[in-house]
Amino acid sequence: MNEFALINQFFKSIPQRRDDVILGIGDDAACLRLPSQKDLVISCDTLVADIHFVADWDAYNIAYKAVMANVSDIAAMGGTPRWLTLALTLPCVDKVWLERFAKGLGDAMAPFNLALIGGDTTKGPLSMTIGIHGTVPQNQAIRRSGAKPGDFIFVSGPLGAAAQAVAFLDKKDVDVNHKNSLMDALLYPKPRIDLNHYLLQYASSAIDISDGLAADLNHILKASHVGACLLWDSIPIHPLLKQYQGKKAVEFAIKGGDDYELCLTVPAAQKPHFIKALQEKGLSCFPIGMIEQQQGLRARLNNGDMITINPSGYSHF
Ligand code: ADP
Ligand code: MG
Repeated sequence: MNEFALINQFFKSIPQRRDDVILGIGDDAACLRLPSQKDLVISCDTLVADIHFVADWDAYNIAYKAVMANVSDIAAMGGTPRWLTLALTLPCVDKVWLERFAKGLGDAMAPFNLALIGGDTTKGPLSMTIGIHGTVPQNQAIRRSGAKPGDFIFVSGPLGAAAQAVAFLDKKDVDVNHKNSLMDALLYPKPRIDLNHYLLQYASSAIDISDGLAADLNHILKASHVGACLLWDSIPIHPLLKQYQGKKAVEFAIKGGDDYELCLTVPAAQKPHFIKALQEKGLSCFPIGMIEQQQGLRARLNNGDMITINPSGYSHF
């Protein structure tokens, strides 16, 4: 099977229903009709076998997760995801693998009505780069640099499930139901596109916390030239973490990563409106602390003690 047959069979066949794709897969470049009054937001992620995923994982899961990680970056900007590109490097043409990969890709794209508009296919050690393009209303992309002292810090959901799943990967003596529910969090992350309207309306800054809350909140702090104090016991963690991590549960959850929730800041005056607007739609975010003038990341424990948080997260080099 040559490269072009492969592209046609596995990628061109993924259904797409966007009328803003003038030209998709098959020409020298894709051509898109841009909506007026919008800015383009673009991100890409490279996944390398045995660094970002285990090469013998079901290819469905590799593709699914790769798309969700990209969607999460657009969510953090307050954007709406629209178009994907895929640069795929394969050691060989394995049709069963490609079928699973394409199925995972299609299933992940469908809920966001994403279109795969092009890419590149090459031979080499297994790796992939997915590029995502989305839109935000003009001048409204949510940045990391907008946090101000006095803003409340929110996180969009409980943390730590994916990291606990990773910790369980090669453990055999774990409750199967627990392991399965944690693996679901690792394999099927749900990027928070559902919050984009509220981010645009209320957030002064936002970031997706795929590298862990501590490390990613620290990016907001650095970009905004501010510090933060968290209320340690208000940080939402997955209910199974207490059982498996004991006293270390919160620390484990904020350093873990792979959660694909969002961390955002909201000016104090907007906080009640933000919470009410979410409630009206059956959504919620968890207030976990405040932005302060004093640089650095710290937390107040229930007994009043202060601790300094070392914001280390995943770093490639
Ligand atoms: P070129 O030689 O002009 O770079 P290619 O032969 O690489 O074009 O690709 C042919 C078409 O298939 C292009 O439209 C390209 O965007 C698309 N394509 C190639 N690989 C992929 C892929 N893995 N997924 C989606 N589209 C792809
Ligand atoms: Mg090419």
